Amino acid sequence: MRSAAAYWRGDEKNKQLQRVYGTAWESKEALEEHLHRIEEAERRDHRKLGRDLDLYSFPDELGSGLPVFHPKGGVVKREMEDYVRRRHIEEGFSYVGTPHISKEGLFHLSGHLPYYADGMFPPTEMEGSSYYLKAMNCPMHNLIFRGRGRSYRELPLRFFEFGSVYRYERSGVVHGLTRVRGLTQDDSHSYETPEQAPGEIRHLLAFVLGLLRDFGLDDYYLELSTGGDSDKFIGSDEEWAVATAVLEEAARETGLELVPDPGGAAFYGPKISVQARDAIGRTWQMSTIQYDFNQPARFGLEFSAADGTRQQPVMIHSAKFGSIERFFGVLTEHYAGAFPAWLAPVQVVGIPITDEQVPYLTDVALKLRTRGIRVEIDDSDDRMQKKIRTASKQKIPFVLLAGATDAEAGAVSFRYRDGSQRNGVPVDDAVRQIADWVASRANSDPAAESPVVVG
Ligand code: ZN
Repeated sequence: MRSAAAYWRGDEKNKQLQRVYGTAWESKEALEEHLHRIEEAERRDHRKLGRDLDLYSFPDELGSGLPVFHPKGGVVKREMEDYVRRRHIEEGFSYVGTPHISKEGLFHLSGHLPYYADGMFPPTEMEGSSYYLKAMNCPMHNLIFRGRGRSYRELPLRFFEFGSVYRYERSGVVHGLTRVRGLTQDDSHSYETPEQAPGEIRHLLAFVLGLLRDFGLDDYYLELSTGGDSDKFIGSDEEWAVATAVLEEAARETGLELVPDPGGAAFYGPKISVQARDAIGRTWQMSTIQYDFNQPARFGLEFSAADGTRQQPVMIHSAKFGSIERFFGVLTEHYAGAFPAWLAPVQVVGIPITDEQVPYLTDVALKLRTRGIRVEIDDSDDRMQKKIRTASKQKIPFVLLAGATDAEAGAVSFRYRDGSQRNGVPVDDAVRQIADWVASRANSDPAAESPVVVG
């Protein structure tokens, strides 16, 4: 299928070899299916779609793994952020904020140094101190927790933020938005009593699975990453066993397939991760939930219990999207750039049949805008067929056409992404149908035969 240069055992000091890739299949049909999957994956490549749809790019000047979001990508990103922030608040989280860098002592306290040093950017010196770009937000949330005395009455206490973290990834493994060096996690930490921990994990699991479904990812399994004998894991065997048992029980209760991942945990505790399958059956690691008994001890976190004694809380880390960047990349591939209407950068484009309908469609656009719909009018010099092709390439969910007959009747014609059309729809009905469809956050595609939502 292809060939590439490779070093013996991956070491560049060794001789260079040619690696030849090939596949073998039991039948011609299986081979064809495989080739089709490759073709589909190429068609869905989010790096190419990001460029074609003007969503994001990866300028060389910035450096490897550091993306920028263009205005259209900014719309999708903001919709994702707004939604996930609102959902966190509904689920009892408090929205907090923390800086991107910190003096190194904080990361020694958390254990990230030395355990995670290879994954961090090198330090910078200032005023006699070494500062590190943060690779995780937890140490800073711990500082908020211990900023004042805490009572058992406040627990579970849940902090959430969009935390931008920086991680060193070898330039060879950096890939589009799915493997980056600068990323923003939708990161949260729940602090609770050990007795509350199982309930909190169930709460978080239900929350993350619901969020993924809201974005149209509804096929997934769970992975349970545990520790091992290596000194890469901190804490006693007993603590690891308790934490693992709590996670495993909550994961089993979901009824989802649970795959073991021995030795795959972070240094501070075991984790459940949600592996979501996209439209062409590839799996992506999305949300993670981690049980941590180490950081509360290292930071000396405590709360006063009902009996007046001082107790140590358990801390549960969770990220729902994982990172905004990665989730955006995965969604782009899942939908092949044809985002659901509620996420689409441009939701409606109005195409006048002749220039005479521009003012008419401009009025329609105004009505849509007052309903919060993102709408554009294509008043370029292109011919109508070309405008329709442009809208289709831009994967805009609703195309509204208007000719002289439509304008006279106070109507528009719908053209959908699948090429189906519905003619002579009165403007007020059209506006209501579009606004209702967007408000419903349907992840399917609107089409002429789809049931009309009448508000
Ligand atoms: Zn964390």
